[in-house]
Amino acid sequence: MTSFQDKEIADGWDDVLGKDKYRLKLAEIADNYPDQRSLFVDYNDLDAYSTDLAMFILENPDRCLGIGRKEVQAAMPPSWDPQNKLNLRIQGLPRDAKVDIRRLRAKHLGKLVAVEGLVRKVTTVKPRMIRAKFKCARCGQEIWIDQHGMILEEPVACTNPDGNCNKQANRFLLDEVASQYIDTQKVEIQESPEGLRGGAQPERLSAYIEDDIAGIVTAGNRITLNGIIRSLEKPDRDKSTVFEVYIDVLSIEFEQHEYDEIQITEEDEQAILAMSRDPNLFSNIVNSISPTIYGMKEVKSAIALQLFGGCHKVMDDGTVIRGDMHILLVGDPGVAKSQILRYMSMLAPRGIYASGKSASAAGLTAAAVKDDFGDGRWTLEAGALVLADKGLACIDELDKMTPQDRSSLHEAMESQKISVAKAGITATLQCRCSMLAAANPKMGRFEEGNIAKQIDLPPALMSRFDLIFPLTDKPERTVDQRITNHILNVHRRGEAQQLSEDVKIPGVDVKEIRESTSNIKPFYDPEMLRKYVAYSKRIVPVMTDEATKMIADAYLNIRGSSTDGSVPITARQLEAFVRLAEASARSRLSHTVDKEDAKIAVDLVQYYLQKIAGTSNGGLDIDMVSTSFSHKDRSDVGTITDLVTLAGSEGIAEADIVTEAGKQGIGKEDVERILQQLKNNGTLYCPTDKVYKVVG
Ligand code: ADP
Ligand code: MG
Repeated sequence: MTSFQDKEIADGWDDVLGKDKYRLKLAEIADNYPDQRSLFVDYNDLDAYSTDLAMFILENPDRCLGIGRKEVQAAMPPSWDPQNKLNLRIQGLPRDAKVDIRRLRAKHLGKLVAVEGLVRKVTTVKPRMIRAKFKCARCGQEIWIDQHGMILEEPVACTNPDGNCNKQANRFLLDEVASQYIDTQKVEIQESPEGLRGGAQPERLSAYIEDDIAGIVTAGNRITLNGIIRSLEKPDRDKSTVFEVYIDVLSIEFEQHEYDEIQITEEDEQAILAMSRDPNLFSNIVNSISPTIYGMKEVKSAIALQLFGGCHKVMDDGTVIRGDMHILLVGDPGVAKSQILRYMSMLAPRGIYASGKSASAAGLTAAAVKDDFGDGRWTLEAGALVLADKGLACIDELDKMTPQDRSSLHEAMESQKISVAKAGITATLQCRCSMLAAANPKMGRFEEGNIAKQIDLPPALMSRFDLIFPLTDKPERTVDQRITNHILNVHRRGEAQQLSEDVKIPGVDVKEIRESTSNIKPFYDPEMLRKYVAYSKRIVPVMTDEATKMIADAYLNIRGSSTDGSVPITARQLEAFVRLAEASARSRLSHTVDKEDAKIAVDLVQYYLQKIAGTSNGGLDIDMVSTSFSHKDRSDVGTITDLVTLAGSEGIAEADIVTEAGKQGIGKEDVERILQQLKNNGTLYCPTDKVYKVVG
C-alpha cells in the first residue's frame, strides 16, 4: 500500500473541502454553530481525489482525521473562532470496508470500518467529561487533565513551579462547572438475522456514539455504523491482556427500505412474472414451506399468506390499520410446531426466532434495565418483536412468556408499537412485524372437550390472532402410517444426500432414493421464494365488489348462525378475512382482490373457527375464544358471582361454592376454572387460602 506524508494528506483534504458542496456546508456550520458542529464527508469524494489516499485513510483513520480536522478549521470562513470544536465525520464507506461483527479480528484494531447490525440496546445519553479542570488546594494553580476512560483521572502533582505548595501538593479540587463535557451514548448492535447461517447465535458489538450524533438511534433500528475499531481493557482487578473491542462511531447510516436488501435483477423479474402465471402457483408455494413436514395443509397455506401479508393502511384521520397477520399454533407436543417456526424464521425476510421463556430482560417486547452494559446508566433493550420489525417474529412457547409480556403483548400486536417509560427513558419502539407463535395447551396436551378452554392465554391476546390452529396428536392408523412413511423418507433422503450419486453400496440405489423422495425438496428454492415475496410487496391490491360481497356474506352468515344469544364471531375476524384475501391477491401479483382470493380467506377462517369454537350442535361460539367465557359460562359466572356476593364480607370457601353450584348443575372443574378467571380479572379475591370474596 502506498504511504502518504502529512503534507500529502493535508493536500487531499484541502482539495475535497474546496468543493462547492463542502464550502456551502462549512458556511452553514459557521452560521448555526453550535447546533451544527459536524462536517460529513462522503467517502466517494475522497476516492475521487485519490483512491490510494482514500484507502490509506481507512487504514490510518486517527492520523488522517487529525490532519483533516486542522484543514477543516483552516477552511472555515474568517468570522469563525478557531477555538470552537468541530467534528469531521466520514460517511458512505465502500463495500469492501464492511466487516461482519463475527469477523472482527485484531487486524481491524485502529482501522476505519463499516459494521451493519440491528440495535439491541441503547443507553440514555449522558454527558461525559472530556477535560477536567482542577485547582491545587494549596496554591490555587489551575490544572487541566484530558479524560479518557470511565474513571476520573486526577493530576499527579501541582504544575506550578513557584507556588507555595512546592509541587508537593496532593489535594486537588475538581471544578465541575468549568470542565468540558461531551454527550455520549453506548449502544449494542447485533448481527442482522439475514447474515446468520444455520441458526448460529448472533454476535454483538458495543459502540460509543458521541456528541451531536448521540441519541439518534433507538432499539430496533437497522443501521450501519462507520467508525474506528478500538480495544478496551476489561475493568478487572487483575491487569489482563485480553481486550474487548468496540467501535468508536464516526457516522451512522439508516437503511431506508427493508426489501431493498433483497436484490431483484431483471432476470429475476422475468422469473417472478413467469412464476405468477403458473396455475398451480399457490399450491407450489405451500409445497415450498417446510416440505419435510407431512400434511398440515391449512397451516402451511395460512403461513404462506402470512408471508405476503395484507395491506398496511393509513386512513384520512390518521388511523393506522395493520396489514400484518398473526397466527397461533396451539398443540400437543411433538407435532412439529417448533420445526415450522424455525423453518419460517429462516425463510422469511427479517425472521427472528425466539422463545417465550427467553432469559433476556427485554423478553418479547422491550425493557428498561440497569445493568453492566450501561456503566450504571439505564439501558433500553429491545425484545424479539422489536428486532423483527418489518419481518416475521416466530415466538415458540408463547404460553411460557413472562407476566410482563403477557400484559403488554396484545398492545404490541395491535398497534405495532411498544412504549417504554421508565427511569428517564421514554421511547416508542416500532414492531411492525407479523407474528407466528406456538403454544402448548393448558395441561400440556389437549384433552377431550372444548378446545378453546384449554388454551392458556389471556383472551385479549387470543383475539389479536387472525388465525388459531389447534393441532392434536391422536393415534390414527392411516394418518400415522403416512406421517411415518414421510418421516422415514425424509431420513432416507437425508442419508442419500450425503452420498454421491455413483456410490456403489449393495442393495442401495442412491439415485432412486433421491428421485422417489423428490417431493421433500421445496418446490421453489428459498432464495427465489424470498425474492418473489419481496417483489409482491410492491403491489397494493384493491377489493373488487364481488370479493367484498363474498366476505360480507360469509361474515354475516356466521354471525347470524348464532341461535342461543352467543356471539359467534367479532369484527376482528372480519379484518382477518380482509387481510387473508389481500395476501392471496398479492401472492398472485394481482392488483385486485378477486372472488378466488376471498374464497381462500373464507375457507381458512371457517376451517379454524370450526376447529376451535365449534359447539356440539354444529354452531360456533367465538365468545369462548375472545373472552374465555362461553355463552353457557356466562350464566354460570353469574351464578357463582351471586353465591360469593351473598356471602358478603365473610367470604365463602371454595368447597362450599362447589357444593352450591353443583346443585345448579355446574361441574366442579367448571367452578374451579371460573373462580380462577374471576380472580384473574379482578372480580373476586382470595384473602385466605380457598376463601373467596367479591372485590369492592
Ligand atoms: P413441537 O414443537 O410441536 O413439540 P417439534 O417441532 O419439536 O414439536 O417436532 C418434533 C419432531 O417430530 C420433529 O423432529 C419433527 O420433524 C417430527 N414431526 C412431527 N410431526 C411431523 C410431521 N407431520 N411430519 C414430519 N415430521 C414430523
Ligand atoms: Mg416445541
